[in-house]
Amino acid sequence: MLKDILNKKNCIKIVCGAGNTDFEEVKKIIYVYAKAGADIFDVSANENVINKAKEALLMVKNNALTTVSIGLKEDKHIKKAVINNEKCVLCKKCIEACPQNALYNGKKQILIKNNCVGCRACSKVCKKNAISFEEQNFMDLENIIKYKPDCIELHPGIADYETICQMWSFLQNNFDGMMSINVSSKNFMLLSKIDDLLKITKNRKVMIQADGKSINTGDTSAKSTLQTIALSQLLSEKKLPAYIICSGGTNAKTPKLLNKYEIKVNGIAYGSFARNLIRKFIDKKDFWQNSSVQEKAVKKAEKLILTTKKYL
Ligand code: SF4
Ligand code: SF4
Repeated sequence: MLKDILNKKNCIKIVCGAGNTDFEEVKKIIYVYAKAGADIFDVSANENVINKAKEALLMVKNNALTTVSIGLKEDKHIKKAVINNEKCVLCKKCIEACPQNALYNGKKQILIKNNCVGCRACSKVCKKNAISFEEQNFMDLENIIKYKPDCIELHPGIADYETICQMWSFLQNNFDGMMSINVSSKNFMLLSKIDDLLKITKNRKVMIQADGKSINTGDTSAKSTLQTIALSQLLSEKKLPAYIICSGGTNAKTPKLLNKYEIKVNGIAYGSFARNLIRKFIDKKDFWQNSSVQEKAVKKAEKLILTTKKYL
């Protein structure tokens, strides 16, 4: 049960990318990190992705769990890059900047793969303003519940407060698994909104994922992780009826800093940092045929999992 793992205060969640609809990539990420000992996997609200996640967990035969993340209005987790070919001059700077290897040169135009997670690293380097972002359609709550994930997480983005409360109430009344909400230090009136949501769930203990810098492209510096640590500290000191997960801007320095400053959380979610660690292995075309590639990927992943469990 997820709550048993969270109660141990060393839960490790791997975020496959809320907008990542490359189900083959998701399968590889889950296969590697489940073998390495991660506890739960966060996937997009997409039928094929959820099915591949289950397939990967069956292959590994461990007890890792699944979260389905639902991005609401304007949430960048559910946006994907789009290239305007009239503006693009094929300089390829975006290809070099993409942490997901989602862009490639299609000779006459830059093409984008389904594993784009909307991180915007490409648009930051594009001098021609040729990259914009479009919202994707994902499954609705009722359909997701049918897949019986262990946890459902809402990413409010800038959705209106009423919509968030309605969805949260719907989950409270219709979903038996863990309910989770992703919050950011940038959210307006954060603490009073969290209080209101917790009133809806009454005696049920929920999960709060505290994002510092969401989709931070795998920055490995201590600086990139400070915001999530600060927000996690603030929320954990409030002694809310909630499990606190440090996320968004997490990297190998996060568990060490949490430990150093004695900040107690229930776990850490790793996103782009974890994916980047194994990127060169999972991008190999012969990944499923080559056991040595798989083993090298698992070894890399294990190092992160073991270090995290040691410090949490
Ligand atoms: S950085 Fe901009 S101009 Fe250069 S290849 Fe990418 S989209 Fe085109
Ligand atoms: S840099 Fe980020 S937003 Fe751009 S294509 Fe790659 S994953 Fe998508």
